[in-house]
Amino acid sequence: MSYFSEYKDLIEEGDLALVWISRDNIKPITIDAKETFNTRYGSFPHTQMIGKPYGSQIAIRTKGSNKFAFIHVLQPTPELWTTSLPHRTQIVYTPDSSYIMQRMNCGPTTRVIEAGTGSGSFSHAFARSVSHLFSYEFHEVRYQQALKEFEHHGLINRDKTVTLTQRDVCANGFAIRPDDITSHKFGEIEEQLSINANAIFLDLPAPWDAIPHLEGVISKDEKVSLCCFSPCIEQVDKTIEAMEKEGWTEIQMVGIQGKQYESRRQMIRTLDDAIERLRDVKKRKSDGMERRKRLCDSVLNDDETKATDEKRPQTEKTRFNPFGKGSRVKEGDINYKWKEVTKVESEVKSHTSYLTFASKIINKDRNERTVKTLLEELEK
Ligand code: SAM
Repeated sequence: MSYFSEYKDLIEEGDLALVWISRDNIKPITIDAKETFNTRYGSFPHTQMIGKPYGSQIAIRTKGSNKFAFIHVLQPTPELWTTSLPHRTQIVYTPDSSYIMQRMNCGPTTRVIEAGTGSGSFSHAFARSVSHLFSYEFHEVRYQQALKEFEHHGLINRDKTVTLTQRDVCANGFAIRPDDITSHKFGEIEEQLSINANAIFLDLPAPWDAIPHLEGVISKDEKVSLCCFSPCIEQVDKTIEAMEKEGWTEIQMVGIQGKQYESRRQMIRTLDDAIERLRDVKKRKSDGMERRKRLCDSVLNDDETKATDEKRPQTEKTRFNPFGKGSRVKEGDINYKWKEVTKVESEVKSHTSYLTFASKIINKDRNERTVKTLLEELEK
């Protein structure tokens, strides 16, 4: 089974599970009754996890103290895998992959070409949603690691969701034949794998060298979407040049920038508040001066009791001052007026690369059969 696309209720022997230790520390494990998951807070035997629902908290008493240590055992999702996977390359993160997939209309009928596979971060997101993923990686070790991982994760299964091929797509294109190093098991009379892709994602240093090879492997009867992921604007320039030359249209470059907005309520302060505050400050100042004077007089006259009494503040406790000091008012207190304010974080958090989108329709003839079916549907 694919642990990434089918829901499971209970944790079972042999499952791939993700152990959530903290937000930045998620570890993949294979559930094995003979194994123990060790953390610096203590050891968690897998037997304590087996049979429990996914999402369960597992607690143990920490060594040498009376405190508890916790982990949560989660079912893998492409999003969690992206934050926990072993990095073999730079990877595509969820803010980019989710945007790219919706821009390319990825769904159950989409046949995607992805190059290169890299660490397989985006491959997992594609594999969950699309009909078929053709992923290409030219680096031999990375290809082998991805193949092993995809098999283990159930992405290369009987339904053959993913076909992984070792190939330099810039030099040799995308067509897959029986003598290629690929995960596809060819039938006896099969000469070439039918790819017919309608979405292409290129995360390569030189996508402009791969673009001319796409013509032979993309769908001819529908709109095909292309997205190139490049960190430098010079790469975008060369990519757009190749796209235009190869007849791709609707070219658009997008950058994803996540920003955090801090939202809170700020008290509305009026001129009357300011005047009242100034009067209060003035009164306290003169009260204080008089008190200090009385204190000095009693010390000079050797009147110790009076001097001690005078040390205590004579004025009432400062009322709330909307300009700063004074007793605290809870944000949103109904006795005061408030307005909603937001502050945006200046630092850009999630820009990793430029996304250059384009589309192509090879056969622009009217498809009479499809039009007839659509009209019939509309008439119903
Ligand atoms: N998108 C991937 C992910 O989310 O994990 C990361 C891809 S990584 C940045 C780029 C990969 O492309 C590398 O593994 C590299 O070996 C591979 N690559 C570079 N040029 C290639 C080419 N001409 N053909 C196939 N793969 C290539």
